[in-house]
Amino acid sequence: VLTDLIKLIKIRKKAFPIFKQLQTYMATQSAPVGISSIWSATANQTLSTQAVGQSASVDVVVVGAGYLGLCTALSLAEGGARVMVLEQGALGGGASGLNGGQVIPGVKPIPSQLVQLYGAHNAERVVAFANGSADTVFGLIAKHHIDCDAVRTGWIQPAVSARSLKALEVRASLHNRWGGDAIMLDAKEVQTLIGNQSGAYCGGWMHRSAGCVHPLNYLLGLVRAAQQQGVLVCTHSRVSGIRKEGAHWQVHTASGPVVRAEQVVLATNAYSHGLWPGLQQTVVAANSLQIATAPLADGVLSDILPKRQAVSDGRRVMNYYRRGPQGRILFGGRGPFVESPSSGAYHDLIRAMHALFPQLRDVPIEFHWSGKVALTRDYLPHIHRPSAGLWAVIGCNGRGVGLMSALGSALGKQIQGHQDANPFLVSAIERLPLHQLNHMYAGALIQYYRLLDQLGQ
Ligand SMILES: Cc1cc2nc3c(=O)[nH]c(=O)nc-3n(C[C@H](O)[C@H](O)[C@H](O)COP(=O)(O)OP(=O)(O)OC[C@H]3O[C@@H](n4cnc5c(N)ncnc54)[C@H](O)[C@@H]3O)c2cc1C
Repeated sequence: VLTDLIKLIKIRKKAFPIFKQLQTYMATQSAPVGISSIWSATANQTLSTQAVGQSASVDVVVVGAGYLGLCTALSLAEGGARVMVLEQGALGGGASGLNGGQVIPGVKPIPSQLVQLYGAHNAERVVAFANGSADTVFGLIAKHHIDCDAVRTGWIQPAVSARSLKALEVRASLHNRWGGDAIMLDAKEVQTLIGNQSGAYCGGWMHRSAGCVHPLNYLLGLVRAAQQQGVLVCTHSRVSGIRKEGAHWQVHTASGPVVRAEQVVLATNAYSHGLWPGLQQTVVAANSLQIATAPLADGVLSDILPKRQAVSDGRRVMNYYRRGPQGRILFGGRGPFVESPSSGAYHDLIRAMHALFPQLRDVPIEFHWSGKVALTRDYLPHIHRPSAGLWAVIGCNGRGVGLMSALGSALGKQIQGHQDANPFLVSAIERLPLHQLNHMYAGALIQYYRLLDQLGQ
């Protein structure tokens, strides 16, 4: 951070316009907006779930019904365990019901960074596991006949500068060395595949095993699959505390019932709030914002992402986009560090979309919504086992459709004694220093990274 701040001071003159932009941006933070996503508007018929009615006893309680919690529950139930999932709200109220639906294999750090963190042997296992995470998602969809508009057309990461293209080249070749399926694209190929008219990119890479899903329908399909395996999925059942009593855990719900279990999995990710000391303080919970255009006329639509790849650009503060339901374009990016982003927070996103696709200038925006992503310092998910029989996985780093599904499936097996199922090492809970101030310095760093992106650094 210190090095970055020194650099920032050196280029303060160039930074000034960005701070002006930031001031204007902050001034537009007014009326909060509710969550009205394209996903909830186009969800398959809702499933029947109920709040936990009475105290019970099971083998494993999973707290949180996102991909992580549901895949853990499904895998445990397939292994014969009696499992209850407790979700505080309705289905899909966390990141798993709100995300961009881009199924991207891999983890954010490059393999050489992983070697430093994990050692060569474990790093290779982590990369192989993460590269296979899209296979896990599409495998679950096929196995459980999940109706969620799944397409496996690849994911493109285009570069906005020669410098970022070089970094992507390194990334692609390292991924391929450890089992990835990546190809490099030149500027013309990117232009043809993305179909944008602004010529913003100088090349990029594509992960061919990636794809897209309707994220909420994928989640609803996982719920149904878990229920069919005997998992009790309880919604509107907030867990208010967990306590160890003898060899068992007592999971207290806000409405009264207490569930007794041998093992508990905290699958609350960016929505963690103090259930276990220090867990929430291991991550910065950042907002990710999305907009969806009105359905496009055929002539306009055929010009954008004609082969339906998902895209996240190679900026430090990236934008991501894809085609969505009913011939819409979905466009997302990082939002401000506030509890509920206001309507003003979406203006930057709309501007970025228009800069890339000028042909969308007159197309109305029909949906805008946001959700939370949990960022860790090393951009990797962390697995904790703070006490016997208590597990927590946290830190999706905005890349969780594939990874959290794969981690959940593996964690279910690990809990049942298959130690090799999960290559991520269990680590101690470590709070981020000055966590309460994190939103402030993370916000400042994001503005600084935006500036570097604009300068092509
Ligand atoms: C806007 C947005 C766009 C994204 N786009 C992509 C993308 O395109 N591709 C990609 O790979 N990743 C994307 N991500 C990240 C991805 O959505 C997440 O990594 C993933 O969904 C995390 O799954 P999870 O099950 O770990 O957490 P969540 O889905 O957030 O589930 C946690 C659940 O825990 C529940 N909970 C919390 N506390 C309690 C409690 N006390 N009692 C009971 N329940 C509780 C919450 O209500 C929530 O439902 C995006 C995220 C967001 C927010």
